[in-house]
Amino acid sequence: MHRKLRTTFARSVRACIFGTVLVMLVSCVTRNVVQSPTGRFQVQTNAFNQYSPEQDIEIGREASAEVNRQIPVLPDSSPVTRYVQQLGAQLVPHAPGPNQWPFSFHVVNVKEINAFALPGGPIYVNVGTIQAADDEGQLAGVLAHETSHIVLRHGTQQASKQVFAQLPLAILGAAVGRSAAGSLAQLGAAFGVQSLFLKYSRDAEREADLLGSQIMYDAGYNPYSMVEFFTKLEKEGGPGVPQFLSDHPNPGNRVDVVRQAISKYPKKRYRNNSPEFERIKSQVAQLRPLTSQEVAQRQQQQGQIGNVTLRDVMPSGQFKTLEHTAFQISYPDNWELFGDANSAVTIAPRVAVAENAIAYGVIINAIRSQSDSLDQATSELVDSLRQANPGLRVDGNIQRLQVSRAPARSVYLVGRSPLSGPNSTLPERDWLVTVQRSNNSTLYLVFIAPDRDFERLAPTYEEMLRRLQLK
Ligand SMILES: [Zn+2]
Repeated sequence: MHRKLRTTFARSVRACIFGTVLVMLVSCVTRNVVQSPTGRFQVQTNAFNQYSPEQDIEIGREASAEVNRQIPVLPDSSPVTRYVQQLGAQLVPHAPGPNQWPFSFHVVNVKEINAFALPGGPIYVNVGTIQAADDEGQLAGVLAHETSHIVLRHGTQQASKQVFAQLPLAILGAAVGRSAAGSLAQLGAAFGVQSLFLKYSRDAEREADLLGSQIMYDAGYNPYSMVEFFTKLEKEGGPGVPQFLSDHPNPGNRVDVVRQAISKYPKKRYRNNSPEFERIKSQVAQLRPLTSQEVAQRQQQQGQIGNVTLRDVMPSGQFKTLEHTAFQISYPDNWELFGDANSAVTIAPRVAVAENAIAYGVIINAIRSQSDSLDQATSELVDSLRQANPGLRVDGNIQRLQVSRAPARSVYLVGRSPLSGPNSTLPERDWLVTVQRSNNSTLYLVFIAPDRDFERLAPTYEEMLRRLQLK
């Protein structure tokens, strides 16, 4: 393992030393793709990733099923989807690399401009993106960029940086399967699929632009159409654009990146805009896509949990113990464990858990932090939670405490309980505790209950925390 890493390093150093200045620039700043002296890009198979390509495909398939349940995706029979699929089919034969990915293209009936790719093949583009594109080349550019994220495996690379990186597989493969808190739903409650796979670094964006340029060129499209569209979005702004740009942050000088990518390719005549595109564009103008807010409301209604009362969830007073690979915790023996000893877990009464929501219980997970400051990790976590749960706010200050003899922080958050009906809102109290682990990661627990019942459950939650032991 060690040796393999060193070889990789040696190889990339050699590439930098012996390559031209251009190759140096490109191959030294990127890790997943290297430009050969001929100007062609080669996908690096030894880039850091804890998943196998087969796992990318499996995770993407599960995540895609989850996404299709949560957001309004147009049927495959829709002419708009059929058009996007045939456009995608022009591009994917030009996706380089050793793996055969089962690409699939989907159109989301949402107004805001966005597009995303799940590991292993599924690509989603919003109706708003098609409405905003000026010609086929710009839309092809978005698809080529997303295709590159898949080829370069940015999604699972991102997820590999998290501590319980095996989470989706562990959960997806386990008995929990598609049951209530199964698969990504459990994570979704805390973060959403998005922040797990889809928030790319600027380096990843640059790579997707580089490789996307080559795919565009090879497919006969003007590679500049891709960055033209991104630049246009930045310039014009408008609804939904902020989300797109935060998912795909500008690596800077996008135009220069394309110039660099295609500098050695022979000049060629690019495709003109197609009449097909114009026809589809007038069709999407007739569509009434939902706003993201409407989608969120729908999700919330789907995530409603019936009329559960404190009596239904009251802890028995008896505890049982979970021996996790990262910690040991005791929990009420009439509550259930979702997840397993290697994954992030949720411990909750079964009646208090729905497809994408938890009304009572605790979520335990870990994050790897950029810095070794627990305060900073805690703030980052609060920000992520707030991003995934609009309306969530911090109540009071962050307090210091000790958990399992390690430094810890505690903070309360107030949000909306999934027990609330469509016309009434029931406040929820979340108690977030972060604990410093020795390996530069932070274990965190979110204890959840409707505000009205929190005090009654607090002794149980405190007891669980008292008995928590880090490993
Ligand atoms: Zn991107």
